[in-house]
Amino acid sequence: MKVLIVEKNAKPGGYCTSFKRGGFAFDACVHSLGSLREDGILRTILRELDIEKRLEIKRNNPSDIIITPDFKIHFWNDLGNTIKEFQGHFPKEANKIEEFFNFIINCQGITFSRLASLTFQSLLDRYFNDEKLKAVLSLLLLGNAGLPAKQLSATVGVYIYKEFMFDGGYYPDCSIQSFPDILVARYKEFGGDIIFSSTAKKIKLQDNKVEGVELVNKGFIPSKYVISNADATQTYTGLIGKELIGEKTANKLKSMVPSHSAFILYLGTDGQTKNIPKDSM
Ligand SMILES: Cc1cc2nc3c(=O)[nH]c(=O)nc-3n(C[C@H](O)[C@H](O)[C@H](O)COP(=O)(O)OP(=O)(O)OC[C@H]3O[C@@H](n4cnc5c(N)ncnc54)[C@H](O)[C@@H]3O)c2cc1C
Repeated sequence: MKVLIVEKNAKPGGYCTSFKRGGFAFDACVHSLGSLREDGILRTILRELDIEKRLEIKRNNPSDIIITPDFKIHFWNDLGNTIKEFQGHFPKEANKIEEFFNFIINCQGITFSRLASLTFQSLLDRYFNDEKLKAVLSLLLLGNAGLPAKQLSATVGVYIYKEFMFDGGYYPDCSIQSFPDILVARYKEFGGDIIFSSTAKKIKLQDNKVEGVELVNKGFIPSKYVISNADATQTYTGLIGKELIGEKTANKLKSMVPSHSAFILYLGTDGQTKNIPKDSM
């Protein structure tokens, strides 16, 4: 099929994009990639698309550092070292730490699907007594999933740990932008088209069948199939229209609550960091 991507920004990537200000290069949101071990999901996708060799991927070690008033804990590429570091900070929980991290690494199939009925907090409660350890293990998920452990599904929590924390810290070429750029280049080689700086305004329907997409200031594009990559609320209430989605979908959308918002400070320095308040580093 002929495929067209309509992208409202001037470059590809969405949140996975980079920009320059005042001579500094910043990654907008995504700062590293996960699941790139030999049989990792992302590695498999890159291999199937035959672009694995086009990206020069480095891996930071440590991939992440948690800093709290009490602790500074590193996530090393070698899981054994990460376990040892956690055990050093929480000696009373040493055995449980090893058990918990190994559970995450080996979690798959039925064990993984059973997690769907649990919150990540209840999983932590099964393993640990130390509230500070539980808080540290939850903190990372707050940043990555936008929810505290009490509200977060254990499936999502375990998945983020397995694929992003224990197999994370990968960085492509010199900026995160190279990842979507290479995907777009490959997509074009397959014959795909993309138009930038174009916003989809309406997904047109006739008798419950898609007819195409209307763009802001750029007319109508007929199409037999439309895939929306915008969020559910924008897709159903904005692009399709409240009047067409039916009561069940409308109620489901109403019951969905946005996750917690994040604040990002993009900071460029000349190397002199002495005037930056210590608490912000
Ligand atoms: C602060 C932050 C940090 C993150 N850090 C990481 C990280 O380090 N590693 C990681 O793996 N993940 C990270 N994530 C998650 C990651 O950003 C998302 O999982 C990913 O971007 C989702 O990709 P997507 O294509 O589904 O959506 P998006 O990235 O949101 O892309 C949607 C695209 O659709 C376009 N669009 C929307 N509406 C329209 C319209 N009406 N018409 C035309 N175009 C439209 C947008 O412009 C955008 O380009 C982070 C997220 C946030 C918010």
